Amino acid sequence: MPEFLETPIEYLKGVGPSKADALKLDLGIFTFGDLLKHYPFRYVDRSKIYRVSEIDPDFAFVQVRGQFVGMGMVGEGRGKRFVAEFSDGENSLEAVWFQGASWIANKIFPNKTYVLFGKPNLFGKTLNMAHPEVMLWEDFKKEQVAGLQPVYSTTEKLKKKSLDSRGIQKLVYNLISDSFFQAPEYLPPQLIADLKMMNRKEMYRHVHFPSDEEQNRKAVFRVKFEEFFFTQLRMLQVKGLRKQAYKGIAFPRIGEYFNGFYQNHLPFELTEAQKRVVKEIRADMGSGKQMNRLLQGDVGSGKTIVAFLCMLIAIDNDCQASLMAPTEILATQHYEGIRELAEPLGIEIGLLTGSTPKSERKKLFEALKSGELKILIGTHALIEDTVQFQRLGLAVIDEQHRFGVQQRAKLWTKDAEVPHVLVMTATPIPRTLSMTIYGDLDVSIINELPVGRKPISTSHRLESSRLRVYGFMKEQIALGRQVYVVYPLIEESEKLDYQNLMDGYEHMLQEFPRPQYEVSIVHGRMRSDDKEAEMQRFKQGVTQIMVATSVIEVGVNVPNASVMVIESAEKFGLSQLHQLRGRVGRGSEQSYCILMSGNKLSREARMRLDAMVHTNNGFEIAELDLKLRGPGDIDGLKQSGLSTLKLADLSKDGEILRMSRISAEKLISEDPALLKPEHQPLSVQLKKNFKGSDWSRVS
Ligand code: ADP
Ligand code: MG
Repeated sequence: MPEFLETPIEYLKGVGPSKADALKLDLGIFTFGDLLKHYPFRYVDRSKIYRVSEIDPDFAFVQVRGQFVGMGMVGEGRGKRFVAEFSDGENSLEAVWFQGASWIANKIFPNKTYVLFGKPNLFGKTLNMAHPEVMLWEDFKKEQVAGLQPVYSTTEKLKKKSLDSRGIQKLVYNLISDSFFQAPEYLPPQLIADLKMMNRKEMYRHVHFPSDEEQNRKAVFRVKFEEFFFTQLRMLQVKGLRKQAYKGIAFPRIGEYFNGFYQNHLPFELTEAQKRVVKEIRADMGSGKQMNRLLQGDVGSGKTIVAFLCMLIAIDNDCQASLMAPTEILATQHYEGIRELAEPLGIEIGLLTGSTPKSERKKLFEALKSGELKILIGTHALIEDTVQFQRLGLAVIDEQHRFGVQQRAKLWTKDAEVPHVLVMTATPIPRTLSMTIYGDLDVSIINELPVGRKPISTSHRLESSRLRVYGFMKEQIALGRQVYVVYPLIEESEKLDYQNLMDGYEHMLQEFPRPQYEVSIVHGRMRSDDKEAEMQRFKQGVTQIMVATSVIEVGVNVPNASVMVIESAEKFGLSQLHQLRGRVGRGSEQSYCILMSGNKLSREARMRLDAMVHTNNGFEIAELDLKLRGPGDIDGLKQSGLSTLKLADLSKDGEILRMSRISAEKLISEDPALLKPEHQPLSVQLKKNFKGSDWSRVS
């Protein structure tokens, strides 16, 4: 016999075949359990019954008890309505229906006592309620409506089948008051005791029909906790299993490549943070277990040199290394930077992108197979089946958020030996998110910029200051600096964006005429070799101004560029603005970021721009971004299983997430495979929750 909560929804009292179909189709409710997980999105307090004289029309909802003392149709045409006078014995108000008049007229009777529930309005001097909920006082008492009442989301189609919020409430009530209702506990008794949680059955009861606010708070806590807890458990389990299953290549040696470079060729003193991170990675790669590590560091914090040092460790241990970047421009830039670093060591490096010619490819593949080529840098092209390393020891992935988890996995699944994986991201991620999206990875953080960097000065300017902004750009160019001017790119209106960009470019050509100035342009519609050529011209200082879309968002490195002008800055997200700003401030000169916007700004846009002006700290920006935007469109969330959160909210429930993480860690460290008898129900539930999702190959 299936568990009670797995009973198909059509077996519930009050649900016929037609309602069942609608529930399945519209709300994805197939079983009793699904219905219980259709949580209310808010509650209304129905503990109080008001006297008419107490009602303030500003109240959101009120309920009054009394009798109908007169009723009838009023008005003509579109103003035609059914009005019933409702008296509490002393004063009265009007209940008004614009639709369904005959239905309601047949439903209410004089001399019977009702409870009206709805939003009060003042119409002239008369208090009224449009389309109130009407309930017989007897039923009100019987159904225990008093107290906090759940409000459920529903759809138009369901409403037509009497499944409005109230209708759904009735179903949930039928379920919970069913004498067979049971919700077997699956959380370990110890955990429940430690966190003083209510049991599962109480949880369902008080999340839907709380007896008071305190019980409701406890129930909601447990729902949120569970939503996080299962994902955390799953991640930690996957991480543990992976560590067991894949031995990983031990890198015991720190040899002449690493030491030689470190002692003789390091172009600058590493920051303390860089040193610490290199140590963490070195220890991890030396452990004999496969490394899966996320390297977080704000733009310009110097992740590339860290990656390079790690590659040298791989090479010291007779392995090869790869670096994958999300775009061709970035791959090329990495290639050039790393080639320069590797040059004095005599290490051979290759570049593989979509536009690498066939003959070149053939040579690359041969050198790769023979082990002659030590480092291969490239785009997605790296994960094609034709790419065979002799022995890949370290796979570095830059700007992870652009790659899917599957792609991460693909990098190594084709080899028998599993390389260490280092994922680098310049998008600082709030702790709550990194715990979830990257919960299966270890994390290293570079939380310090190289010395001598002056903080970028950011300002917000309106259209009226445009000429002054140009004047400032000219001053900077006269000092030998270079300038980016960036236009928004929004996919839905690609044509329009392109038009804006081209108009802007024309405008720049007029304001900054030849021969005194040279202006570059890069955008998504250009062929990649043209793009590349333009980037090079800017990099070499042939052009002073680079007009671009957010194509240049990630990673481009031109230390001489000191001004970033962002047009229509209000159209960019906060993280994106911060990324763009990171393109300047890479040299020792004072750098500037100028946010241009229209006069009319939404409250949120203003908060974004203000935040940019007030802080340079990527982690602060990321936290605020999460608060403003919510986690909805952050890549990687889907794979993490967290897109299914119902009550928990990553931007608000960070503390509960933290607790769930700690509890999950404790549990997994005591019983990694959840084999102890008291963990059996949990283990079964965990498998149910993640049925069909293949996580085992992540990273
Ligand atoms: P990101 O973390 O954004 O990838 P990069 O690795 O591109 O940053 O480094 C940004 C710039 O800072 C580069 O020009 C790099 O050479 C330089 N850099 C990195 N580390 C240091 C350091 N410790 N001292 C001085 N300059 C550094
Ligand atoms: Mg970088």
